[in-house]
Amino acid sequence: MFTDPPWLQPRTAYLHVPFCGHHCGYCDFAVTAGQDHLIELYLDALELELAALGQPQPVETIFVGGGTPTYLTAKQLRRLLEAIHKWLPIISPGSHEFSVESTPESLDAEKVHLLAAFGVNRVSIGVQSFHPHLLAALERRHGVEQIPQAVEMVRKQIPAISFDLIFAAPGQTLAQWEADLDAALAFDPDHVSTYGLTYEKGTPLWKDRERGAVRTVDEDNELAMYEHAMDRLAAAGFEHYEISNFAKPGKRCRHNDRYWANEAYFGVGVGAARYVQWVRELNVRDTKLYVRRVLAGETPTYQSEELDPRERAFETIATQLRRADGVRRDRFRDQTGFELDELIGDWVRDFTANGLLLDDDSSVRLTRRGKCLADGIVTSVMKSR
Ligand code: SF4
Repeated sequence: MFTDPPWLQPRTAYLHVPFCGHHCGYCDFAVTAGQDHLIELYLDALELELAALGQPQPVETIFVGGGTPTYLTAKQLRRLLEAIHKWLPIISPGSHEFSVESTPESLDAEKVHLLAAFGVNRVSIGVQSFHPHLLAALERRHGVEQIPQAVEMVRKQIPAISFDLIFAAPGQTLAQWEADLDAALAFDPDHVSTYGLTYEKGTPLWKDRERGAVRTVDEDNELAMYEHAMDRLAAAGFEHYEISNFAKPGKRCRHNDRYWANEAYFGVGVGAARYVQWVRELNVRDTKLYVRRVLAGETPTYQSEELDPRERAFETIATQLRRADGVRRDRFRDQTGFELDELIGDWVRDFTANGLLLDDDSSVRLTRRGKCLADGIVTSVMKSR
């Protein structure tokens, strides 16, 4: 079925649905709120972009993210799922992964039934917090009471559930974060993603912080929250398989695993990225522009570059370092054509001596301290190019 290795030929596809019921104050994704009249046009455009694949492209995993894909009505959702089914058929149904992102308030029994009928077997729910005042500070639309209803609906028909949680929300204390993790674990999710809140430039929350209207969490407390997540989730049987991601055994997100391996993937929709045959492309981030371009027969791509082999190798190091598995020397050689130590031998020795990396000869990976400083470490390795 596949003629090229997974770093050249995609086994996985990402589709972006930008629509949300409200634009949360911290969100910097490609999202659109209050533009529901664009949904059908967007689906027209998405179908056209999928048709530009030329022929159906079989994949092993699919991830539909957003935005809030389940914000679509059941009828619109069916249309989306039918287009995916036509252009991105699943190889060996049963051993596939088909993930859809969701929010507690956007799910209903009809939509969940539809997702299950089209082979969706993993729903990632944007829970974020179990504290009403923190949900309000983040401008989330759902109430805490909607979380159990959503989980119950999904559980009846879909085998795997993931929770997204945010820590270091405005004014959040360590005790509140501990309670959030406990509340999440009480639902026995298969997977948990924990993200420290970032104040992305230009977002309403960033503006509030700039004018001193937000009580931010200091760095030490944010670190304490991250470390608590590592300990609490490990104690509950979760594997910390990527900086921000924890999974029960066998429940890693396979789509994201491919992404963190720096392997190839298709990407369709506004703001979507794709990486096929060494070419990295990015679609426009504005929904109206995306729709206009695609419906006019123009490409939605606004950036396209083929990285040179050395650049590609460094990008592979930076991405794979985020994983608990780290960078495996033999696999790295196959994937990039470079010896890891030729490129960053001195850097690895320095960071290993500083206790930030573990090097067992077959692979290089972050230590616990390294995980806490991951962003800086990745920046540093990219600077050593
Ligand atoms: S629901 Fe998610 S994607 Fe939509 S605005 Fe809020 S954070 Fe962004």
